[in-house]
Amino acid sequence: PNVAAAQWSPNGGAMGQADLTQPSANVYGANVFSVAVQRQRLPKAVFRQLEATIAKGEPLEPALADAVASAMREWAMEHGATHYTHWFQPLTGSTAEKHDSFYGPTGDGTAIAEFSGKELIQGEPDASSFPSGGIRSTFEARGYTAWDPSSPAFILENPNGALLCIPTAFTSWSGEALDNKIPLLRSMDALSRSAVRALSLLGETAQHVFTTVGAEQEYFLIDEQYYFERPDLLTTGRTLFGAKPPKGQELDDHYFGSIPERVLAYMLEVEQELAKLGVPIKTRHNEVAPAQYEVAPIFENSNIGADHQQITMQVLQNVARRYGLVCLLHEKPFAGINGSGKHNNWSMGTDTGINLLDPGDTPHENLLFLFFCSAVLKAVNAHQELLRASVANAGQDHRLGANEAPPAIISIFLGAELEKAFGAIESGSGDAATPQAYLEMGASVLPRLPLHGGDRNRTSPFAFTGNKFEFRALGSSMSLGMPNTILNTIAAQAIDQLADELEAATGAGTSIEEAVLSIVKQTWSDNKRIVFSGDGYSDEWHVEAESRGLANLRQSPDALPWLVKEETIDVFSKYNVLSERELEARYEVAVEQYVTTLNIEGETAASIARTMLLPAAVRWLLTLKEVGVEKLIAETGGLVDELVEAILALETANRDHPEGVELLDEAKYVQGTVVPAMNAVRAIADKLEKIVPDDLWPLPKYSEILFIK
Ligand code: ADP
Ligand code: MG
Repeated sequence: PNVAAAQWSPNGGAMGQADLTQPSANVYGANVFSVAVQRQRLPKAVFRQLEATIAKGEPLEPALADAVASAMREWAMEHGATHYTHWFQPLTGSTAEKHDSFYGPTGDGTAIAEFSGKELIQGEPDASSFPSGGIRSTFEARGYTAWDPSSPAFILENPNGALLCIPTAFTSWSGEALDNKIPLLRSMDALSRSAVRALSLLGETAQHVFTTVGAEQEYFLIDEQYYFERPDLLTTGRTLFGAKPPKGQELDDHYFGSIPERVLAYMLEVEQELAKLGVPIKTRHNEVAPAQYEVAPIFENSNIGADHQQITMQVLQNVARRYGLVCLLHEKPFAGINGSGKHNNWSMGTDTGINLLDPGDTPHENLLFLFFCSAVLKAVNAHQELLRASVANAGQDHRLGANEAPPAIISIFLGAELEKAFGAIESGSGDAATPQAYLEMGASVLPRLPLHGGDRNRTSPFAFTGNKFEFRALGSSMSLGMPNTILNTIAAQAIDQLADELEAATGAGTSIEEAVLSIVKQTWSDNKRIVFSGDGYSDEWHVEAESRGLANLRQSPDALPWLVKEETIDVFSKYNVLSERELEARYEVAVEQYVTTLNIEGETAASIARTMLLPAAVRWLLTLKEVGVEKLIAETGGLVDELVEAILALETANRDHPEGVELLDEAKYVQGTVVPAMNAVRAIADKLEKIVPDDLWPLPKYSEILFIK
C-alpha cells in the first residue's frame, strides 16, 4: 500500500514555507557570497585585491583576509547563519564539514560574534579518520583546510538555521593533497600553461585558458517507505535482491515522459534551492528506467562546476526527504533496469572568449580547433586505460559494458563529418562531401569543417558533441574531481607535445597553417585507432577494439592499477598535478573502497538471506506441508535446500577473506569469490520471491518500488 505517497502534501516541501511560484531567476545566487555581493560589501581596495587574487592566483595578504572574513560573517549572519564550516572534498568522493560557531566567549560571561581572516584562510579539522592512502598516519593526523577564494562561499539552509560553507582545499601538514580539489586546480593550471603556450605559437594572445564542465546527473527517486523496508538499500544504496517485475523498462514509456506531480514538485524545489546556491540548473527530464530522472546545469569553470556538482548531489538527497522520497545516486540500484551515470561535458576556453573545441566559422578558428581536437585524440589514445580507471568503482562494474552505459573500452566518437574532414587532411584530398554541411575554411588546402557534429551516438564513452567532448562513463555517485583532473593533465601533455612540433616547424620557416595541417595529419594517422563511430554495445566492437589494440578493462580491479602505472606517474609529476605518493594514495583509497563496499554487500546479503528470506520461505514450506500439496512442497523444498547451501557458501566467502595480502589481491578475492557467492544467493532468492506468498515475503518488490510515484 502506498502509505507514504498518500501522506505527501503538495505544500510539504521547502520546510513547508518556500514560495515555489517564484521563478528561479528571482532568487538566483541569493545564498552565495558572489562577486556582486563582494563588490557591494567590501571596501573598494580590498575588493580589487580579492579580484586579482581570484583572477591571477596571487597570494592573499593577511589584512585583506580579515576584511573579507568580517564582511562574509556579517552577510552570513544576516542570512541566519550561526555557524561556519570549511567545506572540503576528501578522497571518499563526498564532501566533509565540521561546524564552528561564530560566537566566542568574551570572558565576562557573554559571547560575541567573531570570524577572523585566519579562521577564513585556514582550518584544522580533526581529520584522522579521512582516508589518506597512507600519506597521513594517525599519529601525524594533522590535515589542513585552506580557503579557495576562486569558489564562492555559500549558505546551506536547514529548518533550524543556516550554515556558512567556505569551499576549501584539504592538505597534509607536508602540503600533499588529501582531497579532490587541489589536484583539479593544479591540473587546470597545467592545462592553462600548455594551452597558452600553444595559442601564442598559433598567433593568439590569451593569458589564461580554463577548462569547463557541465555534468548531466542521473538519479532514482523512490518512496521512502520502501527504502526503509529494504536493509540492502539502506546499507549499500542498491537492492541485493529483487526478482524482475512483469513490467520493467521494456515499454520505454517513462523516458522523456510527463513527470509525475510529486516528482515535479520535488524538482521545482531542488531547482530553487540550487538557484539560491548559484548552481545554474537548466534541464530536467525523465530518464530511461522507471523512477529515473536527470538534471543538468549550464557549464562552468571546472573548479566551480565540480563544487556545484557536489552541492547538487547533496541537495537532490536532502530535498527528497521533504517529499517522502529518497534519492538514490548509486550506479546500479536495481538489477535488470538501467543504472545511473553522469555525463561529463568538457571543454577549454580562453580568457579572450574562444572555446577551443568549437570548430568556429573562420579558417583561423578552424585551425585552432583542429589543433586542439587533435591534442584530445592523442591524449585519450595515449591514456585510455587511465581514463577508464578514473571512472572505476564497485557500482560501475554493474554498468560499464552492460548494454546500458558505454563499454569499458574507451574510444572517441567524432561524428561522420568530422571524421571525414580528418580523413581528407590525412589523404590530402580536400573534401568531397556536401558543401552546405560544411563551414567555409577559405584556404583550399583545408577541408571544410562540419558546422555541428550532427549525428549522435549514445553508445560512445567519449563523444564530440558540437563544441565540447562528453565523457559519458562517469558513475552517478562520483565526484567530478578525478576524471577532470586526469582529462586536464593528459590534455596538457598532448597540447605541449604538439606545440613542440609546431615550434620546431615554424622555427624552420614553415607557415603556421602548413605546420598545423601536417601536425594534424600525423596526429590523426597515429591516433585514429581510438576513433569509433559504430555501435559501442555490439560484440563486433569488442572484437574490433581488440584487433586495434585498445584496452578492455572490464572491472575495477583491472582498471585501478593504471592510476599508478609508470606513464601515469610520469605525466602527473611532469605537470606537478600529483606526485607518485599522492597517486599511490588515491590508488590505495580507491581499491580499499572497492573492497569495503563489496564486503559490506556480502555481509548484508548473507544477513538478509538468512534472517529474512530463508525464514519466509521456510514458513511457506511448512504451510504447504500442512496442506500436503506434494508438487509445491517439492518445488519450494528444493529451492529452500539450495538457498541454505548458497547462504552457507556466502558466509564462508565472507569469513575467509585473506589477511595480510596486497590490497589488489583482496580486491580480486572479493571480485572472484564474494561477488559470485552473493549472486548465487540472489538467483535462488529471486526465484523464491516469485512463489512465496506476497504477505510472507519481507521485502518490497521491484514492481512496487519502481512504479509507485
Ligand atoms: P547535449 O547533451 O544534448 O549536447 P546540451 O548541449 O544542452 O546537451 O549540453 C549538455 C551539457 O553540456 C550541459 O550541461 C551544458 O552546460 C554542457 N556544455 C555545453 N557547452 C559546454 C562547454 N563548452 N564546456 C563544458 N560543458 C558544456
Ligand atoms: Mg548529453
